[in-house]
Amino acid sequence: MIELLFLLLPVAAGYGWIMGKNSAKNQAHQFNRQITSEYSKGLKFLLDREEDQGLEHLINLLEVAADSVEHYSTLATMFRRRGELDRAIKIHELLLKHPSLNEQQAAASRLELAEDYVMAGLLDSAEEHLVWLVKMDHSEALDPIITLYSQTREWQKGINMFEAHSELFSKEQHFKAIANFYCELALSDNNPSLMRKAISLNHKAIRPLYELGLSAYTKEDYVKAIYYWRELICQFTFFAPLFVDKLAHCYKHLNLTHQFHQLISELLDKGGVLIKIQHCQALLEQGNTEQAFEFLTDSLKRQPTIRGFSFLLQLMGAQDKNTKEVLDQIDKLVTSYIATKPDFQCQHCGFTSYTIYWNCPSCKHWETTVPSKGLDGF
Ligand SMILES: [Zn+2]
Repeated sequence: MIELLFLLLPVAAGYGWIMGKNSAKNQAHQFNRQITSEYSKGLKFLLDREEDQGLEHLINLLEVAADSVEHYSTLATMFRRRGELDRAIKIHELLLKHPSLNEQQAAASRLELAEDYVMAGLLDSAEEHLVWLVKMDHSEALDPIITLYSQTREWQKGINMFEAHSELFSKEQHFKAIANFYCELALSDNNPSLMRKAISLNHKAIRPLYELGLSAYTKEDYVKAIYYWRELICQFTFFAPLFVDKLAHCYKHLNLTHQFHQLISELLDKGGVLIKIQHCQALLEQGNTEQAFEFLTDSLKRQPTIRGFSFLLQLMGAQDKNTKEVLDQIDKLVTSYIATKPDFQCQHCGFTSYTIYWNCPSCKHWETTVPSKGLDGF
């Protein structure tokens, strides 16, 4: 009989195991029911427009419901878009502390939190998180930290970051930003040599060449001005309106106008109407009036532009003294029309202006504002 009791031992153990398992299941079930109930309560508060209480419930749940990180992240982003930054910050801070977050989720939450801080004007806190991300080789933090340093005009900090983590930089827009940081620092410290560092970056930027040329031109060092501006006009011909007259002056001062004419003729295919007008002027200076007239009318037929038309009127007025007065009047009208049109446009956001902005005031991108193109452009 006693042996039979021994036979019952595995049955008892099995019973105990099943009961234990059921008990654990029950506990888990109860736990889930609790979460669902709290979740419903939170949603009910939100639906009843008792948002503070609703949010409080949902945030508290985050501490127990580890698998809903994505939902909370979406919720926080929604709050930020609505301008409820304190709530967005609260959720992102909680998310960041959550032990179940993997490295990618933690970095994403930190980035979002930094964005909340920027929007809330808490720039020091934002910088702290962004610097941490850069140090941990998260290149996705480069965009916001470059924008942040552009906003705070902390050029040296941006340069230090670039020099310490240059391996993270691969996008052209980031190199352009750093090139402009060098330029800003060079101008504020009156130290043009800093701009030369910008020239040696992997991606060529427009501004260092322009500023170095301008600095030399201001000091009447025309040889150096030609050195920088020649490279600039060959690489970024569409930027010619900003300095082509001064470049012509440099060549003229050195009695090298023929070289300038040669340079312009080499740029005809790449350049806009301003280069074509410069070419016409060169032909006129060489006494080839007929050729200049033909070249201009032919160019206008292929690509009509208001500036080209204005120059044609001047050319016609110079040729025929009888109609000069009338043509001058028409040209005045055309010129006053051109003056109403913005000279520059951001290629990224479409922002227009009458002056060059190296950092677009609207989208905050560097070197995206360029001389206008098309019918009214250059
Ligand atoms: Zn823009």
